[in-house]
Amino acid sequence: MAAERSDRIVVVGAGIGGLVSALLLASQGAQVTVVEAAEAPGGKMRRLPLGEGIDGGPTVFTMRWVFEQILEQAGFTLADLPRLAPLGVLARHAWRGHAPRLDLHADHRRSTEAIAEFAGPEEARRFQAFCAQAREVYRRLEGPYIRSGRPSMWSMGRDLGPRGLATLMGLGPFSSLWRSLGRHFHDPRLQQLFGRYATYCGASPWQAPATLMLVAQVELDGVWSVEGGMHAVAQRFADLARRRGATLRYASRCERVLVSGGRASGVRLENGEEIAADAVVFNGDPQALVQGLLGEASTRAVPPLPREQRSLSAVTWAIHGCTAGFPLVRHNVFFDDDYASEFDDVFRARQLPERGTVYVCAQDRGDSGVHEGAERLLCWSTRRPRATSAISMPGRWAHANDGARPC
Ligand SMILES: Cc1cc2nc3c(=O)[nH]c(=O)nc-3n(C[C@H](O)[C@H](O)[C@H](O)COP(=O)(O)OP(=O)(O)OC[C@H]3O[C@@H](n4cnc5c(N)ncnc54)[C@H](O)[C@@H]3O)c2cc1C
Repeated sequence: MAAERSDRIVVVGAGIGGLVSALLLASQGAQVTVVEAAEAPGGKMRRLPLGEGIDGGPTVFTMRWVFEQILEQAGFTLADLPRLAPLGVLARHAWRGHAPRLDLHADHRRSTEAIAEFAGPEEARRFQAFCAQAREVYRRLEGPYIRSGRPSMWSMGRDLGPRGLATLMGLGPFSSLWRSLGRHFHDPRLQQLFGRYATYCGASPWQAPATLMLVAQVELDGVWSVEGGMHAVAQRFADLARRRGATLRYASRCERVLVSGGRASGVRLENGEEIAADAVVFNGDPQALVQGLLGEASTRAVPPLPREQRSLSAVTWAIHGCTAGFPLVRHNVFFDDDYASEFDDVFRARQLPERGTVYVCAQDRGDSGVHEGAERLLCWSTRRPRATSAISMPGRWAHANDGARPC
């Protein structure tokens, strides 16, 4: 949104979305107040008090150019963020009961070699063809969709042009990511690996469109680790917004969005305080508005979304402990054999699966994978947590409920 110098704007929520809005609006001269229910910024980009503090939400930093652009608009540069270090190994993948594991590398040639060793030279050639298609899909969608503020079917159709439309048609109209991957790969493990990109936006590979293969290109363009953890990014955005004049108020839950004459006119906090505004940016869950949790008047601010259409989330475990038996790198994915049942449980039966893929971020490790002693791990999965569980993956594991366990 464009702001006038005199605009008073309240941003509800200091997640990364709210912080970026606050920074950009304050840079345009608006008087910005951010109200956040939690005691610190970050929202999902939070830090949990375990070990030296562990990232409890996002762990994979990609699309650095997005941050570059935002910072530039606000008169800052990437140097104003905590230091970013590119990862050589994007992720390590392992399968239950199968000895070989597969690393994907930032270096495309090394990934191709790794796939040739893991699944044979034919699959490696298919991987190259897959990457070429993912690159092309990304290139076609970058302007009309990824960089577009508010893409619509009409604007996309116009901006894609005949070549862009031909690229999308080439994926197979209405083809799912799963079906498209089945055309690329013969080895089901690779179909599983690249199908996981659907979960990045809370979807099932059986339902997500094939265009999501562009995530492969996003990761090949670079994955970074952040000095001080992802939470440090949120913290820095809060500092930068403050430097541009925004006021940030934590432990300040918005209880109601005030509306007058059909327009948002401010917010009321839990303690009864009212803050008048010319506009309110709501960075909480839009469905909270629809359900009337912030007042009857804002229920029509966004369209309702039936419960069954909401996206997939995850169960997370934050662990500080010792590991053994599997050579972890920073990002690790452990696949179960029965991929279909995992998504069937979540999207059809609407229950947490008994078994499923587990992601482990070993936050003290880089590419070398070397670490001594207790370490910080964030694990997430769709599967049902068990009361006493060690997370069962190849090798022996840190116990989920131990907290700090002597090594
Ligand atoms: C487990 C997990 C892993 C993820 N991994 C990655 C990853 O590796 N890479 C990646 O790019 N993305 C990842 N994501 C997605 C990413 O974390 C989110 O897209 C992003 O953090 C969302 O930011 P947001 O500002 O939109 O919302 P949120 O972070 O949800 O922020 C909303 C904020 O609003 C506040 N709020 C809500 N209601 C009120 C109210 N009434 N009054 C005051 N405050 C309120 C909340 O307290 C919260 O701080 C992951 C998400 C999860 C859950």
